[in-house]
Amino acid sequence: MGDDGWRDMPALISRETVGALAEALGELARDQAKPFATVLHGGEPLMLGARRLEFVLRSLRAKLSSGHALCMQTNGMLLTSETADICARYDVSISVSLDGPRAVNDRFRLGKQGESTHEKVVAGIEVLRRHPRAAFLYSGLLSVIDPTSDPRATYDYFKGLGAPSIDFLYRDGNHSSLPFGKESPDSDEYGQWLSRLLEAYLGDPAPPRVRFLDDMIKLCLGGFGIKEGLGQTDFGIAIVETDGTICKNDTLKSSFDGADRFTEHWSVRTHALSAVFATQEFARYHALQRPTSSTCRSCAYLPVCGGGMPLHRWKAGTEFDNPSVYCSDQKTLISNVILRLRKEGLKIDPRLAERATSSPAVSV
Ligand code: SF4
Repeated sequence: MGDDGWRDMPALISRETVGALAEALGELARDQAKPFATVLHGGEPLMLGARRLEFVLRSLRAKLSSGHALCMQTNGMLLTSETADICARYDVSISVSLDGPRAVNDRFRLGKQGESTHEKVVAGIEVLRRHPRAAFLYSGLLSVIDPTSDPRATYDYFKGLGAPSIDFLYRDGNHSSLPFGKESPDSDEYGQWLSRLLEAYLGDPAPPRVRFLDDMIKLCLGGFGIKEGLGQTDFGIAIVETDGTICKNDTLKSSFDGADRFTEHWSVRTHALSAVFATQEFARYHALQRPTSSTCRSCAYLPVCGGGMPLHRWKAGTEFDNPSVYCSDQKTLISNVILRLRKEGLKIDPRLAERATSSPAVSV
């Protein structure tokens, strides 16, 4: 979405910054009672190459015990048995980004020359599946939704790749720049797509985990979600760039240039993470997870929807003070989840206002 902040960053993290990052995370692990996960993502972390990858993972694992998950999000194209072995050695689980079967994946995930990347990604997944520690290493697939695709075909395809878990993401977009496939902020193409996925998922006697739907079901039943962007649990997310700069969630970059930057320049090279997290500015960023829009705050669906992710609320002028651009999609999906749970004789969370639980589900 036009973000080119990466141009100002070193392409590779230096050994000094890796050392500073490992120290900062080790210190945070001592300072903070709650465990946290560290995710290498990009860009593309495997572009480090095997030697540098081993250095990064060895440095991080030296400061983080096994109670602190280390994970990698990769496009999978450079996965080899050597890089998989390195990840296994330092207990780093791997999730692969793939949007669906070849035709779906090739719509957005093309190489520099416009070539298909699909075959290479699937070859990378096969490396994981064949690895002796596959049950740990291969944590799952991450897919950005293409609402023009067939959700059942995508689901079946991912199952065929042996994915133990599948995570689906709404595409980046906002009120000023509508996500691909959305006719208007009031249309519900993604909600329809997810509702059809729900039917495929619940009709499967041996399903993989689908975190987005699991969270939504749990929230409708009065439980808690584990994923940012649904429900009302707060998540603390900080990004460390390749020069060591500490930033906000990088998904915010799609709103406007610099939306992920704090006004203070903080770096793992000069600042303790727990000190940054204790500042007023970090608290204001953290509070952004909760919707400010009066429409959301009085919404019958709020306990499950949570107002969506901040990046999806953005609109030039009113900034983040809006419902999610996926508001109609969320309502369609939540209605269908409630309808389906009721059919199973399950009791819906009484915190969900009557309006949400009594409105007719949108047919799919
Ligand atoms: S359904 Fe719409 S109005 Fe309700 S909380 Fe979600 S984004 Fe806000």
